[in-house]
Amino acid sequence: MTSIAFIGLGHMGAPMAANLIKSGVMVKVFDLVPEAMKSLTELGALSAKSACGAASGADVVITMLPAGKHVRSLYLGEGSSDKGLLDVVAEGTLLIDCSTIDAQSAKKVAEVAVSKGLEFIDAPVSGGTAGAAAGTLTFICGGSETGFEQASKVLSHMGANILHAGDSGAGQVAKICNNMLLSVLMIATSESLQMGIDHGLDPKVLSEIMKVSSGGNWTLDKYNPCPDVMESVPSSNGYQGGFMVDLMVKDLGLSQEAALLTNSCTPMGALARSLYVNHARQGNGTRDFSSIFEQFSSFQQMTHIQQNKNKG
Ligand code: NAD
Repeated sequence: MTSIAFIGLGHMGAPMAANLIKSGVMVKVFDLVPEAMKSLTELGALSAKSACGAASGADVVITMLPAGKHVRSLYLGEGSSDKGLLDVVAEGTLLIDCSTIDAQSAKKVAEVAVSKGLEFIDAPVSGGTAGAAAGTLTFICGGSETGFEQASKVLSHMGANILHAGDSGAGQVAKICNNMLLSVLMIATSESLQMGIDHGLDPKVLSEIMKVSSGGNWTLDKYNPCPDVMESVPSSNGYQGGFMVDLMVKDLGLSQEAALLTNSCTPMGALARSLYVNHARQGNGTRDFSSIFEQFSSFQQMTHIQQNKNKG
């Protein structure tokens, strides 16, 4: 039976690891926060005392960590007194990092892995916590053909779409291109909906019209930012759950760093980052990213209040 080490059991990692366990593979888990391992050991996973303890002897290592510095530190031992995973894994171990990080870090880890004869795949995900729980994530992979084929078999237990973007780092680049586009669509959908509301339109009716017109997009189909237009989305639940503003700010920072490296022109991405940073600085960092809608609706409410005051 394939043995898998799963390291990083946060909002995404825990439900992903749970799906692997349910698929019948042997899973050994590790997280710096011991409580994070409890729900998985209850499902049948083994727990390790350290990341290296989980990874040594495993056929496959999967990591789901916050940012590039965590990934470099864990795999390479960079800035840490511990050994890196690349120093302890067995020959032939397949390494898959599902975190969203900068492409440079992914390429660096892959380079060292290849120098030791190991396959390292960057495989950031799209689909959020709901997709992680349902096992319907999209994995956007970078790495060799052989590594991708091996990784696909494992990732299919946690996702519905497994795509190969290109060589090492390409998965990360494709992921931040997607999230930059998503942020722009979310902001543009929010301002359009609010302008319609300001002119007396019903946002449900307006959404149905735009969905089947040339402005139709994923946010209207699946994730309407205006409260009570759609059921079971964060906007209809006080913007709780979903994809945090802080994570969108992180991804937009990564996309702007990537744009600088290649001198790419990304004016909409730059503006989207500023708007999301501003939104986070107003105390919205842990709310869902569709709460950016309130930047437009609150502005309108304040204008009405001001107009009424002036009349008074
Ligand atoms: P999270 O902060 O909930 O989880 C990260 C986990 O990693 C934590 O439990 C932390 O204790 C653990 N960790 C950190 N360093 C570690 C180490 N050295 N060894 C072991 N464990 C360690 O984050 P998340 O929401 O699960 O996101 C993980 C990654 O997935 C991020 O890169 C994020 O951008 C990306 N992502 C998140 C979402 C989402 O909706 N949350 C969606 C798509 C992609």
